[in-house]
Amino acid sequence: MSFEEMDKEYVLHTYNRNYVNFKRGKNAALFSEDGKDFIDFTSGIGVASVGHGNKKVADAIYEQTQNITHVSNLFLIEPQAKLAKKMVELSGFDMAVFFGNSGAEANEGAIKIARKYGQNRFKNKRYKVLTLEYSFHGRTITTLKATGQESFHQSAFSPYPEGFAYKNQIKDIYSAIDDETIGVMIELVQGEGGVQAFDKKEIKELAVFLQKNDLLLIIDEVQTGVFRSGEFLASKLYDIEPDIITLAKGLAGGVPIGAVMTKHKDIFTYGDHGSTFGGNFLSARAGLEVLDILEKSHKDGSLQKSIDHFDDKLKKTAEKYPDLFLDKTGLGLMRGLQCKDGDTLSKIIKASFDNGVLVLKAGRNTVRFLPPLTISKGEIDEGFARFEKALDTLK
Ligand SMILES: *Cc1c(COP(=O)(O)O)cnc(C)c1O
Repeated sequence: MSFEEMDKEYVLHTYNRNYVNFKRGKNAALFSEDGKDFIDFTSGIGVASVGHGNKKVADAIYEQTQNITHVSNLFLIEPQAKLAKKMVELSGFDMAVFFGNSGAEANEGAIKIARKYGQNRFKNKRYKVLTLEYSFHGRTITTLKATGQESFHQSAFSPYPEGFAYKNQIKDIYSAIDDETIGVMIELVQGEGGVQAFDKKEIKELAVFLQKNDLLLIIDEVQTGVFRSGEFLASKLYDIEPDIITLAKGLAGGVPIGAVMTKHKDIFTYGDHGSTFGGNFLSARAGLEVLDILEKSHKDGSLQKSIDHFDDKLKKTAEKYPDLFLDKTGLGLMRGLQCKDGDTLSKIIKASFDNGVLVLKAGRNTVRFLPPLTISKGEIDEGFARFEKALDTLK
Protein backbone atom coordinates (compact mmCIF):
# COMPACT_ATOMS: atom_id res chain seq x y z
CA MET A 1 0.00 0.00 0.00
CA SER A 2 1.46 3.38 -1.00
CA PHE A 3 1.32 6.28 1.43
CA GLU A 4 -1.15 7.94 -0.90
CA GLU A 5 -3.42 4.89 -0.73
CA MET A 6 -2.94 4.75 3.04
CA ASP A 7 -3.94 8.39 3.38
CA LYS A 8 -7.00 7.90 1.21
CA GLU A 9 -8.04 4.79 3.11
CA TYR A 10 -7.51 5.96 6.68
CA VAL A 11 -7.74 9.75 6.74
CA LEU A 12 -11.09 11.52 6.35
CA HIS A 13 -11.38 13.23 3.01
CA THR A 14 -11.43 16.91 3.92
CA TYR A 15 -8.44 18.03 1.84
CA ASN A 16 -7.89 17.78 -1.88
CA ARG A 17 -4.22 16.95 -1.33
CA ASN A 18 -1.17 17.11 -3.53
CA TYR A 19 0.55 13.77 -2.82
CA VAL A 20 4.15 14.96 -2.79
CA ASN A 21 5.98 13.37 0.16
CA PHE A 22 8.30 15.92 1.79
CA LYS A 23 11.10 14.29 3.74
CA ARG A 24 13.32 17.18 4.77
CA GLY A 25 13.28 20.95 5.03
CA LYS A 26 15.89 23.64 5.46
CA ASN A 27 14.69 27.22 5.96
CA ALA A 28 12.70 27.99 2.77
CA ALA A 29 13.69 24.78 0.96
CA LEU A 30 11.78 21.48 0.99
CA PHE A 31 13.02 18.15 -0.33
CA SER A 32 10.68 15.38 -1.43
CA GLU A 33 11.02 11.61 -1.40
CA ASP A 34 11.38 11.46 -5.18
CA GLY A 35 14.52 13.66 -5.06
CA LYS A 36 12.95 16.99 -6.03
CA ASP A 37 13.56 20.24 -4.21
CA PHE A 38 11.20 23.17 -3.75
CA ILE A 39 11.40 26.78 -2.65
CA ASP A 40 8.61 27.22 -0.12
CA PHE A 41 6.80 30.52 -0.62
CA THR A 42 3.99 29.29 1.67
CA SER A 43 5.55 28.22 5.03
CA GLY A 44 2.58 25.89 5.45
CA ILE A 45 0.01 28.63 5.40
CA GLY A 46 2.11 31.21 7.19
CA VAL A 47 3.02 28.83 10.00
CA ALA A 48 6.69 27.87 9.58
CA SER A 49 7.60 31.49 10.29
CA VAL A 50 11.26 30.78 11.08
CA GLY A 51 11.65 28.23 8.29
CA HIS A 52 11.88 24.46 8.21
CA GLY A 53 14.31 22.59 10.46
CA ASN A 54 15.17 25.69 12.47
CA LYS A 55 18.02 24.55 14.70
CA LYS A 56 17.41 27.05 17.51
CA VAL A 57 13.73 26.11 17.80
CA ALA A 58 14.46 22.39 17.44
CA ASP A 59 17.12 22.51 20.18
CA ALA A 60 14.79 24.38 22.52
CA ILE A 61 11.95 21.92 21.89
CA TYR A 62 14.31 18.99 22.39
CA GLU A 63 15.61 20.36 25.64
CA GLN A 64 12.12 21.19 26.85
CA THR A 65 10.64 17.78 26.02
CA GLN A 66 13.58 16.08 27.77
CA ASN A 67 12.31 17.75 30.93
CA ILE A 68 8.61 18.55 30.87
CA THR A 69 6.26 18.64 27.88
CA HIS A 70 3.06 19.22 29.75
CA VAL A 71 1.45 19.89 33.09
CA SER A 72 -2.12 21.15 33.33
CA ASN A 73 -3.08 24.79 33.46
CA LEU A 74 -3.91 24.26 37.13
CA PHE A 75 -0.18 24.84 37.73
CA LEU A 76 2.22 27.62 36.91
CA ILE A 77 3.79 27.08 33.49
CA GLU A 78 6.96 29.17 33.42
CA PRO A 79 7.43 29.44 29.63
CA GLN A 80 3.71 30.37 29.26
CA ALA A 81 4.12 33.29 31.68
CA LYS A 82 7.31 34.35 29.87
CA LEU A 83 5.67 34.08 26.45
CA ALA A 84 2.66 36.14 27.54
CA LYS A 85 4.99 38.82 28.95
CA LYS A 86 7.03 38.88 25.75
CA MET A 87 3.90 39.18 23.57
CA VAL A 88 2.47 41.99 25.66
CA GLU A 89 5.83 43.85 25.60
CA LEU A 90 6.19 43.42 21.84
CA SER A 91 2.62 44.64 21.32
CA GLY A 92 3.18 47.79 23.37
CA PHE A 93 -0.41 47.42 24.60
CA ASP A 94 -1.62 47.04 28.17
CA MET A 95 -3.06 43.56 27.65
CA ALA A 96 -3.12 40.02 29.00
CA VAL A 97 -3.13 36.75 27.07
CA PHE A 98 -5.06 33.46 27.01
CA PHE A 99 -3.51 30.53 25.15
CA GLY A 100 -5.30 27.91 23.06
CA ASN A 101 -4.18 25.74 20.18
CA SER A 102 -5.40 27.29 16.94
CA GLY A 103 -6.67 30.38 15.23
CA ALA A 104 -10.29 29.29 15.40
CA GLU A 105 -9.95 28.68 19.11
CA ALA A 106 -8.34 32.09 19.59
CA ASN A 107 -11.31 33.67 17.80
CA GLU A 108 -13.75 31.66 19.92
CA GLY A 109 -12.02 33.18 22.95
CA ALA A 110 -12.35 36.64 21.42
CA ILE A 111 -16.08 36.13 20.85
CA LYS A 112 -16.55 34.93 24.42
CA ILE A 113 -14.73 38.00 25.76
CA ALA A 114 -16.87 40.23 23.54
CA ARG A 115 -20.12 38.64 24.68
CA LYS A 116 -19.27 38.87 28.35
CA TYR A 117 -18.20 42.48 27.91
CA GLY A 118 -21.54 43.06 26.16
CA GLN A 119 -23.40 41.72 29.16
CA ASN A 120 -21.35 43.62 31.76
CA ARG A 121 -21.17 46.95 29.97
CA PHE A 122 -24.73 47.42 28.64
CA LYS A 123 -28.14 47.14 30.28
CA ASN A 124 -29.59 45.16 27.41
CA LYS A 125 -27.00 42.47 26.69
CA ARG A 126 -25.17 43.21 23.46
CA TYR A 127 -23.76 40.18 21.67
CA LYS A 128 -23.70 40.72 17.92
CA VAL A 129 -20.32 40.80 16.19
CA LEU A 130 -20.07 42.37 12.74
CA THR A 131 -17.58 40.85 10.32
CA LEU A 132 -16.75 41.40 6.65
CA GLU A 133 -17.60 39.53 3.51
CA TYR A 134 -14.58 37.54 2.23
CA SER A 135 -13.29 37.29 5.78
CA PHE A 136 -12.03 34.02 7.26
CA HIS A 137 -12.15 33.34 10.99
CA GLY A 138 -11.98 29.56 11.38
CA ARG A 139 -13.66 26.17 11.10
CA THR A 140 -15.48 25.65 14.38
CA ILE A 141 -19.25 26.03 14.13
CA THR A 142 -19.12 29.53 15.64
CA THR A 143 -16.12 30.82 13.70
CA LEU A 144 -17.59 29.41 10.49
CA LYS A 145 -20.62 31.57 11.20
CA ALA A 146 -18.34 34.53 11.94
CA THR A 147 -16.72 33.98 8.52
CA GLY A 148 -18.51 36.26 6.07
CA GLN A 149 -18.67 33.86 3.14
CA GLU A 150 -21.89 32.04 2.35
CA SER A 151 -19.96 29.02 1.05
CA PHE A 152 -18.76 28.38 4.62
CA HIS A 153 -22.33 28.24 5.99
CA GLN A 154 -23.34 24.90 4.46
CA SER A 155 -26.76 23.72 5.53
CA ALA A 156 -25.28 20.30 6.32
CA PHE A 157 -23.66 21.73 9.43
CA SER A 158 -26.57 23.87 10.62
CA PRO A 159 -27.88 25.17 12.95
CA TYR A 160 -25.24 27.83 13.50
CA PRO A 161 -25.11 30.12 16.53
CA GLU A 162 -26.71 33.53 16.24
CA GLY A 163 -24.95 36.81 16.73
CA PHE A 164 -23.14 37.58 13.49
CA ALA A 165 -23.80 39.88 10.54
CA TYR A 166 -21.65 40.72 7.53
CA LYS A 167 -20.87 43.84 5.60
CA ASN A 168 -19.13 44.23 2.27
CA GLN A 169 -16.89 47.17 3.16
CA ILE A 170 -15.60 49.00 6.20
CA LYS A 171 -17.73 52.03 5.42
CA ASP A 172 -20.91 49.89 5.48
CA ILE A 173 -20.26 48.85 9.08
CA TYR A 174 -21.51 52.06 10.72
CA SER A 175 -25.11 51.75 9.56
CA ALA A 176 -25.20 48.06 10.51
CA ILE A 177 -24.52 48.75 14.19
CA ASP A 178 -27.70 48.36 16.25
CA ASP A 179 -28.48 48.08 19.96
CA GLU A 180 -27.44 44.42 19.96
CA THR A 181 -24.01 45.03 18.39
CA ILE A 182 -21.03 44.61 20.68
CA GLY A 183 -18.20 45.02 18.21
CA VAL A 184 -16.49 44.43 14.91
CA MET A 185 -14.08 41.63 14.05
CA ILE A 186 -11.83 42.09 11.03
CA GLU A 187 -8.52 41.08 9.48
CA LEU A 188 -6.37 44.05 8.42
CA VAL A 189 -5.25 42.12 5.37
CA GLN A 190 -7.74 39.43 4.41
CA GLY A 191 -5.64 36.29 4.05
CA GLU A 192 -7.96 33.67 2.62
CA GLY A 193 -10.09 36.41 1.08
CA GLY A 194 -7.52 37.65 -1.44
CA VAL A 195 -4.58 39.38 0.33
CA GLN A 196 -6.14 42.84 0.12
CA ALA A 197 -4.90 45.27 2.75
CA PHE A 198 -7.54 47.67 4.05
CA ASP A 199 -7.05 51.41 3.89
CA LYS A 200 -5.29 52.75 6.98
CA LYS A 201 -7.40 55.89 7.27
CA GLU A 202 -10.65 53.92 7.07
CA ILE A 203 -9.50 51.50 9.77
CA LYS A 204 -8.33 54.29 12.07
CA GLU A 205 -11.67 56.07 11.71
CA LEU A 206 -13.51 52.87 12.54
CA ALA A 207 -11.30 52.32 15.60
CA VAL A 208 -12.03 55.84 16.87
CA PHE A 209 -15.77 55.46 16.27
CA LEU A 210 -15.96 52.12 18.10
CA GLN A 211 -13.96 53.41 21.04
CA LYS A 212 -16.19 56.47 21.36
CA ASN A 213 -19.23 54.20 21.56
CA ASP A 214 -17.69 51.67 23.95
CA LEU A 215 -17.85 49.01 21.24
CA LEU A 216 -15.09 46.49 20.70
CA LEU A 217 -12.56 46.35 17.91
CA ILE A 218 -11.42 42.76 17.48
CA ILE A 219 -8.51 42.28 15.10
CA ASP A 220 -7.96 38.76 13.78
CA GLU A 221 -4.19 38.71 13.38
CA VAL A 222 -4.00 34.94 13.06
CA GLN A 223 -2.34 35.40 9.67
CA THR A 224 -1.06 39.00 9.77
CA GLY A 225 0.47 38.73 13.26
CA VAL A 226 3.89 37.69 14.56
CA PHE A 227 5.95 39.94 12.26
CA ARG A 228 4.25 38.78 9.04
CA SER A 229 3.49 42.43 8.25
CA GLY A 230 6.98 43.58 9.18
CA GLU A 231 5.82 44.59 12.67
CA PHE A 232 4.94 42.25 15.54
CA LEU A 233 1.30 43.17 14.90
CA ALA A 234 -0.23 44.60 11.74
CA SER A 235 -2.27 46.71 14.20
CA LYS A 236 0.98 48.63 14.79
CA LEU A 237 1.28 49.43 11.07
CA TYR A 238 -2.32 50.64 11.13
CA ASP A 239 -1.64 52.70 14.24
CA ILE A 240 -4.68 51.34 16.10
CA GLU A 241 -5.12 49.94 19.58
CA PRO A 242 -7.66 47.08 19.37
CA ASP A 243 -9.62 45.78 22.34
CA ILE A 244 -8.92 42.19 21.39
CA ILE A 245 -6.26 40.63 19.14
CA THR A 246 -6.04 37.00 18.09
CA LEU A 247 -2.86 35.23 16.99
CA ALA A 248 -1.93 31.70 15.96
CA LYS A 249 -0.29 30.51 12.73
CA GLY A 250 3.33 31.73 12.94
CA LEU A 251 3.52 32.12 16.70
CA ALA A 252 5.32 28.87 17.52
CA GLY A 253 6.84 28.10 14.12
CA GLY A 254 4.70 25.01 13.51
CA VAL A 255 3.90 23.80 17.02
CA PRO A 256 0.12 24.25 17.43
CA ILE A 257 -0.73 27.39 19.40
CA GLY A 258 -3.36 30.11 19.46
CA ALA A 259 -3.67 33.20 21.59
CA VAL A 260 -6.19 35.87 22.37
CA MET A 261 -4.89 39.12 23.88
CA THR A 262 -7.12 41.80 25.33
CA LYS A 263 -6.95 45.02 27.26
CA HIS A 264 -10.07 43.93 29.15
CA LYS A 265 -7.84 42.07 31.52
CA ASP A 266 -10.45 41.32 34.17
CA ILE A 267 -13.30 40.23 31.95
CA PHE A 268 -12.75 36.52 32.58
CA THR A 269 -12.90 35.03 36.04
CA TYR A 270 -11.93 31.53 37.14
CA GLY A 271 -13.78 28.92 35.13
CA ASP A 272 -14.93 31.25 32.34
CA HIS A 273 -12.59 29.76 29.79
CA GLY A 274 -9.96 27.04 29.56
CA SER A 275 -7.91 24.69 27.43
CA THR A 276 -6.19 21.38 28.11
CA PHE A 277 -3.18 21.92 25.89
CA GLY A 278 -3.15 25.71 25.53
CA GLY A 279 0.17 27.34 26.39
CA ASN A 280 1.84 24.17 27.62
CA PHE A 281 5.60 23.79 28.08
CA LEU A 282 6.12 22.59 24.51
CA SER A 283 4.23 25.24 22.54
CA ALA A 284 5.14 28.13 24.85
CA ARG A 285 8.83 27.27 24.73
CA ALA A 286 8.72 27.07 20.93
CA GLY A 287 6.90 30.40 20.85
CA LEU A 288 9.58 32.04 22.98
CA GLU A 289 12.32 30.91 20.58
CA VAL A 290 10.36 32.04 17.53
CA LEU A 291 9.78 35.50 19.02
CA ASP A 292 13.42 35.76 20.01
CA ILE A 293 14.54 35.04 16.44
CA LEU A 294 12.01 37.34 14.83
CA GLU A 295 12.47 40.20 17.29
CA LYS A 296 16.20 40.20 16.43
CA SER A 297 15.58 40.22 12.68
CA HIS A 298 13.10 43.04 13.17
CA LYS A 299 15.55 45.09 15.26
CA ASP A 300 18.59 44.61 13.04
CA GLY A 301 16.65 45.47 9.88
CA SER A 302 17.14 42.11 8.17
CA LEU A 303 13.37 41.39 8.13
CA GLN A 304 12.69 44.72 6.44
CA LYS A 305 15.46 43.99 3.92
CA SER A 306 13.81 40.69 2.99
CA ILE A 307 10.42 42.41 2.70
CA ASP A 308 11.89 45.06 0.40
CA HIS A 309 13.68 42.51 -1.74
CA PHE A 310 10.57 40.33 -2.02
CA ASP A 311 8.52 43.38 -2.97
CA ASP A 312 11.04 44.35 -5.63
CA LYS A 313 10.94 40.84 -7.13
CA LEU A 314 7.14 40.77 -7.03
CA LYS A 315 6.92 44.13 -8.75
CA LYS A 316 9.30 43.06 -11.54
CA THR A 317 7.40 39.81 -12.08
CA ALA A 318 4.03 41.59 -12.17
CA GLU A 319 5.42 44.04 -14.75
CA LYS A 320 7.01 41.31 -16.83
CA TYR A 321 3.73 39.36 -17.17
CA PRO A 322 1.04 42.03 -17.66
CA ASP A 323 -1.21 39.61 -19.54
CA LEU A 324 -1.35 37.30 -16.48
CA PHE A 325 -1.51 39.73 -13.57
CA LEU A 326 -3.74 42.69 -12.78
CA ASP A 327 -2.13 43.89 -9.59
CA LYS A 328 0.25 43.14 -6.73
CA THR A 329 -1.35 43.21 -3.29
CA GLY A 330 -0.71 42.78 0.44
CA LEU A 331 2.11 43.96 2.66
CA GLY A 332 5.14 42.68 4.57
CA LEU A 333 5.76 39.05 3.63
CA MET A 334 2.03 38.47 3.06
CA ARG A 335 1.72 39.21 -0.62
CA GLY A 336 -0.48 38.52 -3.58
CA LEU A 337 -0.52 38.69 -7.34
CA GLN A 338 -4.03 39.15 -8.60
CA CYS A 339 -4.59 37.12 -11.77
CA LYS A 340 -7.02 37.99 -14.49
CA ASP A 341 -9.17 34.93 -13.66
CA GLY A 342 -9.47 31.82 -11.50
CA ASP A 343 -8.54 29.47 -14.32
CA THR A 344 -5.20 31.25 -14.80
CA LEU A 345 -4.63 31.03 -11.03
CA SER A 346 -5.06 27.23 -10.97
CA LYS A 347 -2.67 26.86 -13.90
CA ILE A 348 -0.07 29.07 -12.20
CA ILE A 349 -0.20 27.09 -8.95
CA LYS A 350 0.25 23.80 -10.80
CA ALA A 351 3.04 25.12 -13.08
CA SER A 352 4.82 26.59 -10.05
CA PHE A 353 4.79 23.24 -8.31
CA ASP A 354 6.07 21.51 -11.45
CA ASN A 355 8.91 24.03 -11.57
CA GLY A 356 9.86 23.63 -7.91
CA VAL A 357 8.24 26.55 -6.12
CA LEU A 358 5.26 26.39 -3.76
CA VAL A 359 2.65 29.16 -3.83
CA LEU A 360 -0.90 29.39 -2.46
CA LYS A 361 -4.26 30.53 -3.66
CA ALA A 362 -6.32 33.28 -2.04
CA GLY A 363 -9.82 34.41 -2.92
CA ARG A 364 -10.95 33.62 -6.41
CA ASN A 365 -8.00 34.84 -8.42
CA THR A 366 -4.96 35.69 -6.30
CA VAL A 367 -1.61 33.90 -6.06
CA ARG A 368 -0.63 34.18 -2.39
CA PHE A 369 2.93 34.30 -1.03
CA LEU A 370 3.64 33.61 2.66
CA PRO A 371 7.34 32.70 2.73
CA PRO A 372 9.18 31.99 5.99
CA LEU A 373 10.14 35.32 7.58
CA THR A 374 13.72 34.02 7.71
CA ILE A 375 13.87 33.48 3.93
CA SER A 376 17.28 34.42 2.49
CA LYS A 377 17.95 36.66 -0.48
CA GLY A 378 19.23 33.63 -2.38
CA GLU A 379 16.06 31.69 -1.67
CA ILE A 380 13.89 34.61 -2.77
CA ASP A 381 15.86 34.94 -6.02
CA GLU A 382 15.74 31.21 -6.70
CA GLY A 383 12.00 31.08 -5.93
CA PHE A 384 11.21 33.91 -8.34
CA ALA A 385 13.45 32.40 -11.04
CA ARG A 386 11.42 29.19 -10.75
CA PHE A 387 8.15 31.09 -10.60
CA GLU A 388 8.95 32.97 -13.81
CA LYS A 389 9.99 29.73 -15.48
CA ALA A 390 6.56 28.38 -14.53
CA LEU A 391 4.85 31.46 -15.94
CA ASP A 392 6.78 31.07 -19.20
CA THR A 393 5.22 27.63 -19.69
CA LEU A 394 1.77 29.27 -19.70
CA LYS A 395 2.51 31.66 -22.55
C1 LIG B 1 -5.94 30.44 9.42
C2 LIG B 1 -6.83 31.49 9.97
C3 LIG B 1 -7.77 31.20 10.97
C4 LIG B 1 -8.00 29.80 11.48
O1 LIG B 1 -6.89 29.28 12.12
P1 LIG B 1 -6.84 27.70 12.50
O2 LIG B 1 -5.56 27.57 13.24
O3 LIG B 1 -6.89 26.95 11.22
O4 LIG B 1 -8.03 27.44 13.35
C5 LIG B 1 -8.50 32.25 11.48
N1 LIG B 1 -8.34 33.51 11.03
C6 LIG B 1 -7.46 33.81 10.07
C7 LIG B 1 -7.32 35.24 9.62
C8 LIG B 1 -6.68 32.82 9.50
O5 LIG B 1 -5.82 33.12 8.52
